[in-house]
Amino acid sequence: MTDSTDFEAIEGFREQILQEYPRLGPADTFTFACHPGVTCFNDCCGDVNIFLTPYDILRLRARLGITTEEFLDNYTISPFTKKMKFRVVMLKMKDEGRKPCPFVTEQGCSVYEDRPWPCRMYPVGSAQSHGAVTTDEDFYFVLQEGHCHGHEDSQAREWTIGDWIADQGADEYDEANRWYRDIVTHPFFRGPEEMSPQKMEMLEMGCYDLDKFKRFVLESPFLQRFEVPAERVEQIKTDDKELLRFGAEWVRFAVFGEPTIKINKAVLEAKAKRMGIDPPENL
Ligand code: SF4
Ligand code: SF4
Repeated sequence: MTDSTDFEAIEGFREQILQEYPRLGPADTFTFACHPGVTCFNDCCGDVNIFLTPYDILRLRARLGITTEEFLDNYTISPFTKKMKFRVVMLKMKDEGRKPCPFVTEQGCSVYEDRPWPCRMYPVGSAQSHGAVTTDEDFYFVLQEGHCHGHEDSQAREWTIGDWIADQGADEYDEANRWYRDIVTHPFFRGPEEMSPQKMEMLEMGCYDLDKFKRFVLESPFLQRFEVPAERVEQIKTDDKELLRFGAEWVRFAVFGEPTIKINKAVLEAKAKRMGIDPPENL
């Protein structure tokens, strides 16, 4: 799922937003309508950079009836530059004509109920780095792009930013992704430590390839090595939001070295015995 992306252009646009766009809050308003009757219908669903969050990936793979691994392989690119400490995942546009989104049809978005966070939010954006998740310091802005006629459509009505987010179901996505937000904003990424290939693999599995992570938890000796209550194991099996949350705890444990997951006491004692030392209370 690798490809090249013009990150300099994306970064330049982000700088422009930070410097030039009015900083809006949930109570600020804008006027807009988007519906199949707009003259620009579908114009925004091609040749566009859509960063995917873990919850976007979970929703889309469930919609398509495939695994996260199949979704990542077939529908995403994962650009990487020397400046980045972890990969981002983006929706892969088709390599034909106007580079349409793989999910756009003449009738509109074929995955509308499970469309990604940026598609829900448009024309509202949230200023933060990579990952499309909101933090307390974020602000909102409204994009006014030449191709989008929704701002002057005859059905356009006034929205507050907060009402728009709720109407589009983006608040559920923000809530589900808040564990991922804690990872992408973690101080580890501002420190000097380089990501080893092993840590990178752990991070990508725990954030993006969550079906693989689920198999790792349920089908390896994981549950013998770590203490996970039986009730939680059941939730991880059936609830994608809980899987996402446990994936984030795993990344914090395996990549950042935080005690978010408890090692089985018997494993700690056996290890201490082999090393001829007293067992630690916990890691
Ligand atoms: S996922 Fe749907 S709304 Fe988003 S770009 Fe593709 S077709 Fe458009
Ligand atoms: S009004 Fe804007 S968001 Fe809606 S289809 Fe047109 S370009 Fe896309």
